[in-house]
Amino acid sequence: DSPLDLSAIRADFPILDQTVQDKALCYLDNAATAQKPRQVIDAVAEYYRRDNANIHRGVHTLAERATAAYESARERMADFINASATEELIFLRGTTEAINLVAQSWARPRLEPGDEILVTELDHHSNIVPWQLVCEQTGATLRAVEVNERGELDLESFEALISRRPRLFAVGHVSNALGTINPVKHLVERAHAFGVPVLVDGAQATPHMAVDVQALGCDFYAFSGHKMYGPTGIGALWSRKELLTEMPPWQGGGEMIKMVSIERSVWNDVPHKFEAGTPNIAGAIGLAAAADYMESIGLDAIGDWEHRLLEHATRRLSETPGVTLIGTAEQKAAVVSFVVDGVHPHDLGTILDSEGVAIRAGHHCAMPLMEKLGLPATARASMAFYNTLEEIDTLADALVRARELLA
Ligand code: PMP
Repeated sequence: DSPLDLSAIRADFPILDQTVQDKALCYLDNAATAQKPRQVIDAVAEYYRRDNANIHRGVHTLAERATAAYESARERMADFINASATEELIFLRGTTEAINLVAQSWARPRLEPGDEILVTELDHHSNIVPWQLVCEQTGATLRAVEVNERGELDLESFEALISRRPRLFAVGHVSNALGTINPVKHLVERAHAFGVPVLVDGAQATPHMAVDVQALGCDFYAFSGHKMYGPTGIGALWSRKELLTEMPPWQGGGEMIKMVSIERSVWNDVPHKFEAGTPNIAGAIGLAAAADYMESIGLDAIGDWEHRLLEHATRRLSETPGVTLIGTAEQKAAVVSFVVDGVHPHDLGTILDSEGVAIRAGHHCAMPLMEKLGLPATARASMAFYNTLEEIDTLADALVRARELLA
């Protein structure tokens, strides 16, 4: 009873049609990486079959075609997050690389001993560790907004810390560990009231909702292709052109220069200044195909169906004896984190795999959050729009059996 044509959608994802351990695959590990529709796989394959060439410097037809395809992928992705200009979108390896770039190119030259960078206890390691590195390099201090027992940011803690005027506030849009959707627009408004720029880690947002960087009002937005049905090894950083223009390059090499002599070089314009070396051309083309695919289904329709999946999963799991849900924020993406009495999450993951159910168990690259919650690990089921209510039932039934076996 989905408003989406789930059988047609699932037919677009060849990987879903397989058995694992003699059971139909039930893929509920989408927050780690999402599966790819044939439209993405075909776009990448077609590029290699027909157009492959290095970009930007070529005078021959294939180089022109590859350049056009890469640059039109940039236009597509800039449009996808409603950037006001195409050159504000830098293709990188993913969220991790995007955050490291901002830490090293934007923050490092600005930070001095006594300065603060503000993150949150909810953040992924990739939005914590790059800031630790730059704090070590500059003598600045890293602070973190506290999270409450529901897995939401404590807004009093945020107000107290943002009023100290850190040099930057870096915050996840959606928590990969718990699914919490942070009130980013509000946080940006408050940060800007204190003159603090904001970086948003959008790795878990772009797969689930329409993102509009202009409406959010943030200063930097990072995301990864592989979480939103695109290839691995491609992602992007968005920022406003004025900011990008004043930032020094992060890596040196080909493509990022206008002129090089042994004594000095002249940097290329934004965005090329930040894309040293041969980029992931096929990845960018595949990512644009993923954006096309998501929009062909409709971002609102995706959000609505995933919300139904989340409600169903929340209800089924809270009714399952011995299961405790971790993270009960009011605003959530389709992620359920949980623990089962007497069963270690890793053992649970292994048992579920024997039932064909793929979930994740561990600290979810959010060790500060786990410490705050007093848990070494949780099990996490994370949904995508191709998942079905029956798959959630399969998970819940498998949990009952796993508990009988292990607890
Ligand atoms: N932030 C969040 C919230 C994530 O979930 C992830 C991926 N698990 C990342 C950042 C890092 O993304 P990537 O590994 O694609 O660079």
